[in-house]
Amino acid sequence: MNIALIAHDKKKDALVQFATAYKTIFAKHQLFATGTTGQRIMDATGLDVHRFQSGPLGGDQQIGAMIAQNNMDAIFFFRDPLTAQPHEPDVTALVRLCDVYSIPLATNMGTAELLIRGMDEGLLEWRNIVKENNGEEDLK
Ligand code: PGA
Repeated sequence: MNIALIAHDKKKDALVQFATAYKTIFAKHQLFATGTTGQRIMDATGLDVHRFQSGPLGGDQQIGAMIAQNNMDAIFFFRDPLTAQPHEPDVTALVRLCDVYSIPLATNMGTAELLIRGMDEGLLEWRNIVKENNGEEDLK
């Protein structure tokens, strides 16, 4: 499955730690990330990560485009709730698209643990059915 990894600056250490802990599961999937987050994860884990632009330069929107094209299955987005972000509109747009398309979105470590373990147990297999149907499900 296609998984996106994004972390705001103060949350990057936590996401790198998370990716390291679940490296064997992440290795079974195709990984995508915003620029700096992706580099940090690749350096720490050796996992292969397709890197988009840095978040403030459009990376969140590139990942959002993958959601809209029915090409993204899960998102781990460790947001910093205590720091204003220059690209806040992009962050909001990404979260909104996850809700439009019912894409699982983990924004903190607690949910991330549940999502990655659930994925490993096959709880996200419905995404394959949606993809086989070319995303034609009733979104309204
Ligand atoms: P970055 O982008 O991984 O390039 O830092 C993440 C973000 O701040 O949205």
